[in-house]
Amino acid sequence: MSKRTRKTLSFYKFVERFPNEEACREYLYSFKWKDGFVCPVCGNQHCYTLKGFGRYQCTKCRHQTSLTANTIMHSTHLPLHKWFWAIYLVSCDKRGISALALSGKIEVSYKSAWYMLKRIREAMRMRDAHYTLCGVVELDDSYFGAKIKGNRGRKAGNQGVFVAVSMSKEHTPIYLKMQVTDNIQIPSVQNFVTNNIAPGSTVQTDSFRSYIKPLAKNYIHESEDFNPNSKHLKWLHQIIANAKAFINGTYHGTSTKHLQMYLSEFCFRFNRRSFGGKIFDRLLVAMVG
Ligand SMILES: [Zn+2]
Repeated sequence: MSKRTRKTLSFYKFVERFPNEEACREYLYSFKWKDGFVCPVCGNQHCYTLKGFGRYQCTKCRHQTSLTANTIMHSTHLPLHKWFWAIYLVSCDKRGISALALSGKIEVSYKSAWYMLKRIREAMRMRDAHYTLCGVVELDDSYFGAKIKGNRGRKAGNQGVFVAVSMSKEHTPIYLKMQVTDNIQIPSVQNFVTNNIAPGSTVQTDSFRSYIKPLAKNYIHESEDFNPNSKHLKWLHQIIANAKAFINGTYHGTSTKHLQMYLSEFCFRFNRRSFGGKIFDRLLVAMVG
């Protein structure tokens, strides 16, 4: 991670930088075609600018494209300016923003605000899906959502989630992944581990039996019985507590149907917690990428 920048982009600076649709369009253009226009069909580098919502036509094959084509903002019929506001509002508060609050702030319907947030969170999830954890990795499962009566510890809630975090040499967390799962059985653990943790990594878990087989072959597996006084998985348990507070605080709990979206948002923020004011740009990159 590069040098720490804690300053967030101020409201005033945001309005100054993006006063209207045109400014947003120019900014997005510089992100998407940083070396100039390239036709996605034939590779030609010349285009006509068409009137209306940021459309461009290739001078050679006449293919029409737009700034938002093939991005997560594609065909939403919402002005770019509103998207920029939504991305800014999501990025400037670590507690996130609810669809109700967003709809009031940028004057779109609740349905549109919900849809925008859904797409922003999907961009966050896709961005983080590129990364693989390596080195020393703490791994555990947790349960989110409504409590199941009479259950404690494992299976206290109704939705299982795998949580893994890579650790630095100084034993501080670096990168976090959270994934909803139907169960904590061996094939599910295997699937999560293979997709998210690089072979050769040291993986620390509790002594739950489902972790033994998936980690036996390609990983160094360190397991310990749960002990509240041990440092083993200490960070991971703290992160899980924070994720639950985030979801309960901002979204007042959530149906398990949308849980992955909120977990992806939590992970995206956590993984960029030292980026400060650059979060807005990072999120925009994620939206366009
Ligand atoms: Zn073309």
